[in-house]
Amino acid sequence: MIKVVVNGALGRMGREVLKAVLGDEHTKLVGAVDAIAKGERVGSLITAQCDIEVKSDLAKTLDECRPDVVVDFTQPAVVMDNLRVIFGKGVRAVVGTTGFDKDKLAELDALARKNNTSVLIAPNFSIGAILMMRLAVQAVKYLPKAEIIELHHDNKLDAPSGTACLTADLMIEARGGFVQQGHPDEEEKHKGARGANIDGLRVHSVRLPGYVAHQEVIFGGLGETLTIRHDSISRESFMPGVLLGCREIGKYTGLVHGLDKMMH
Ligand code: NAP
Repeated sequence: MIKVVVNGALGRMGREVLKAVLGDEHTKLVGAVDAIAKGERVGSLITAQCDIEVKSDLAKTLDECRPDVVVDFTQPAVVMDNLRVIFGKGVRAVVGTTGFDKDKLAELDALARKNNTSVLIAPNFSIGAILMMRLAVQAVKYLPKAEIIELHHDNKLDAPSGTACLTADLMIEARGGFVQQGHPDEEEKHKGARGANIDGLRVHSVRLPGYVAHQEVIFGGLGETLTIRHDSISRESFMPGVLLGCREIGKYTGLVHGLDKMMH
């Protein structure tokens, strides 16, 4: 059994992870942490039989519970500090929190290696989203002009989404770098109208109540378009990926970026 602590346990994703870890035969929930915890019991959060108390001190909880893995779904502003604490205790991490840039990823890889541990940073844990990215990488070799529209609930703090950034990076690598899209002299009448510009590939972020996590990759060719769309319609969609990450992360050292690296 893989011993798991859930960090961000009071959040929307954290609660879903508590349910998934408790319900899986390969994982054992040994602790739960949230910065704003006030003695809540896991069982009362997810209507299950579980008397574990949600604690507010991550370092202390790791000392007491000695987990194999911490699953972190917190916030972009605090996740780096969380990981420094987790690595410092020699524990592995499976991270769904988004908002990492290339420098932060490199820093985490070095830090994990220094502490002889490992971390999975997965901007998207849903199996369908990984397949969407794989298909986009295939398509962009033949249709290099593409734009991404990502749509999320309006409580999301970062934009573009981590999934959109990863999709763009993978597509740019597959098509060999910059491609001019749109008219070279085009002018934005309102700033941001053409979205973020990642090596010529435009990324548009929609934030509205009602959405969970969705993404379209639109390819344009001569007289044709191709659209690949993925929809996470509930947070359950991320759980098989989180559990796969918990099972697999022990086989690695350093950073694993993207769940696709574990999907063979
Ligand atoms: P959320 O509901 O705001 O949950 C975040 C939770 O973490 C909150 O309870 C928050 O408490 C808590 N928290 C903040 N700082 C903390 C700290 N230092 N230590 C422990 N807990 C802390 O957000 P969410 O919708 O669950 O999303 C969480 C993250 O996961 C976001 O970055 C989101 O983009 C990402 N996400 C990733 C995937 C994926 O597949 N990779 C899927 C969905 C979401 P407060 O209320 O005090 O802030």
